[in-house]
Amino acid sequence: MRVYNFSAGPSILPEEVLRQVQSEMLDYGGTGMSVTEMSHRGKTFVEINDEAEAGLRELMNIGDDYYVLFLQGGASMQFEAIPLNMLGKNNKADYLVTGNFAQKAYKEGQKYGDLKAAASSKDANFTYIPKTTRESFRPDAAYVHIAQNNTIFGTRFTAATMPDVGDIPLVSDMSSNILSEVMDVNKYAVIYAGAQKNIAPAGVTVVIAKKSIVDDPANCLPYCPTMLKWKTQADEKSLYNTPPCFSIYVANLVFKYLKAFGGVTAMQKQNEYKAGLLYDFLDQSKLFKTAVNKVDRSIMNIPFVTGDEELDNKFVKEASKNALVTLKGHKLVGGMRASIYNAMPVDGVKALVEFMKKFECENK
Ligand SMILES: *Cc1c(COP(=O)(O)O)cnc(C)c1O
Repeated sequence: MRVYNFSAGPSILPEEVLRQVQSEMLDYGGTGMSVTEMSHRGKTFVEINDEAEAGLRELMNIGDDYYVLFLQGGASMQFEAIPLNMLGKNNKADYLVTGNFAQKAYKEGQKYGDLKAAASSKDANFTYIPKTTRESFRPDAAYVHIAQNNTIFGTRFTAATMPDVGDIPLVSDMSSNILSEVMDVNKYAVIYAGAQKNIAPAGVTVVIAKKSIVDDPANCLPYCPTMLKWKTQADEKSLYNTPPCFSIYVANLVFKYLKAFGGVTAMQKQNEYKAGLLYDFLDQSKLFKTAVNKVDRSIMNIPFVTGDEELDNKFVKEASKNALVTLKGHKLVGGMRASIYNAMPVDGVKALVEFMKKFECENK
């Protein structure tokens, strides 16, 4: 039986994509083999790789002035790659510390240069997005780094809180919200995302980077390892070495699925509707509450608590008996967290809200 899986990552994939993968597992397109068994240099895989890149470019409206790279190592590897590829000319960068991953990125980067936390919401356990002004950033910073959606704490940057960085290149970790809402790629110098939340199985990491930055060797620190240098993969269409073929193949199918769905605009509408169902319930509930500042709420990851640890545990246990699984919150927050990525059907969120209503009645 298939369950509603609220895992933060790796997470739910569209059922029709999984079925297609299943149907092609033994024989992809008449090749007599699975994509995971074929050469990454062969015509079939090269086509898949090209299609995936074109698909993402179309969905996000990415201009020719950007590279789209399919890398390995997860978003965490990019915590290192970003300073290594960007601090060559100027050794300063400013970070907005709005959650666990934002903090990790900041910490890793400190090995490579003079990093400054331009703002932080640590004072309130990351329950809000701090406001910044142009003056919050050093004018000579090589870049400003943000985590656009804070997966663990359930906040996100919106138009109202997006930093005004002027001419400073903006770098954004979109691991948990890429393709969930319409983004103007041109506002960013670099966007990166591990695939395992909104795109594909774990293994591939998407990097969208301005060609002008990648192509200027002076931006790269001299000791940047070959495998972490964006230019290495940019020059080889992400096929410098063996790529995560299977993940790229599934990503391609997810991009096609999303396009058929109506693209990111249609998906954003559905995501806002889904999140609204859950937040509307939370806002009137006498049992469940969320600590997140209302205007900063994520539409992908929604943490909530009853305020009683025992009751939280009981909720998670009973929910999973009702096919609503992986609702336990991250240990830094406690309670519950519902990750409702693109692939979570509306019916999954409705089922969760119905279950919460019932649980509330039974546990007054
Ligand atoms: C999951 C996540 C990461 C870590 O991704 P890995 O691919 O496991 O390295 C980093 N940043 C954000 C915002 C995430 O949600």
